[in-house]
Amino acid sequence: MQTMTTYSFKDKKALVRVDLNVPQDANGNVTDDSRARAVVPTVKKILKDGGSAILMSHLGRPKGKVNPTMSLKPIAEHLAGLLGVPVQFATDCVGPDAKAKAAALKPGEVLLLENLRFHPEEEAGDEGFAKSLAALGDVYVNDAFGTAHRAHASTTIVAKFFPKDKLFGSLMQAEIDSVGKVLESPQRPMTAIVGGSKVSSKIDVLENLIGKCDELIIGGGMANTFVKAMGGQTGSSLVEDDLLEQARTIIAKSEAKGVKLHLPTDAVVADAFAENANTDQCAADAVPDGWMALDIGPDSIKAFSEAVLRSKTLLWNGPMGVFELKPFQQGTIAIAKALAEATEKGAFSLVGGGDSVAAVNQFGLSDKISYVSTGGGAMLEYLEGKVLPGIAAIREA
Ligand code: AMP
Repeated sequence: MQTMTTYSFKDKKALVRVDLNVPQDANGNVTDDSRARAVVPTVKKILKDGGSAILMSHLGRPKGKVNPTMSLKPIAEHLAGLLGVPVQFATDCVGPDAKAKAAALKPGEVLLLENLRFHPEEEAGDEGFAKSLAALGDVYVNDAFGTAHRAHASTTIVAKFFPKDKLFGSLMQAEIDSVGKVLESPQRPMTAIVGGSKVSSKIDVLENLIGKCDELIIGGGMANTFVKAMGGQTGSSLVEDDLLEQARTIIAKSEAKGVKLHLPTDAVVADAFAENANTDQCAADAVPDGWMALDIGPDSIKAFSEAVLRSKTLLWNGPMGVFELKPFQQGTIAIAKALAEATEKGAFSLVGGGDSVAAVNQFGLSDKISYVSTGGGAMLEYLEGKVLPGIAAIREA
């Protein structure tokens, strides 16, 4: 398989699927350009080799119709600033303008195509549409990890038109390598920390991780369902009563596999889901009626941090509490700090697939984590052990 290091882009037109789905304010200004910045290394390598780059992406949810508020045109200008070269723009991703501009592209030049999702064929994975995209380039690079879990025309189907000349971009490769370090060949002990609001959205992740990790920490709102499943009192906390049996199965499976399971032993509780609620602390299995557990307590912080600090490989998905509200962010901050400290001591840490990414960014700790994933839904599916179509399409012979 070709990689960004082995492949020479000299005199090649690289058709690159990127993720330029940047958040914008009401006036179309980019409010966070991390995704645009993440595109730069792959494009620079192509240009440095003496190739040219044809970039394609989606933006927003135009639902298969042209919607000027979701045009990628302003992003072309933004990207030009980041790349330090002009970025040409085609008013459609297929058709005469794209064809002519792609044909005229010279080594060192960059062309951005208009929003792929202005065509319903993109999300439908239409083969004819994928073929029209493929006709624009000589080599296909997929660098859009955020959409790797979708079998869309530009993320998956297009790859079949490049049987030999297809590869992962630098960002996608980094995501794949990081997951590999955690799930395929981890240094032991390996600890997974799973939090967030609901068990229902993390069951497959938990099931997959039980087969891979040595210690499993469960925090956040989802821990309440486990606490109740073991006979604890959870007051008015968020609990999924229909999942109590499933929680017991997960506990039994961890035991059977010799995975050390950590649940919160204490909690920060509140009498309302609000910043100005009255708060208190209590045992995690003795939350009084009318009160809800919104963060892990100091004993849990201590036990969880100790587990993190004795690990060589760490995976974190989902916050330990309602970190968006100040009174309930201590647990999430403490885990983020423990991860940073373990990383400094030589552990490999991956944060991905949920609000824990927002948390490490918010607390200014992302630089102290080995790898912070850029793909929310894609990372979650990857951690569930699913084969992502965008990855399979490049790997398939
Ligand atoms: P997820 O998207 O599943 O990772 O969940 C993230 C959300 O879980 C965040 O918005 C948190 O506020 C929320 N959350 C974390 N802990 C709790 C809790 N104890 N009760 C209710 N919501 C929580």
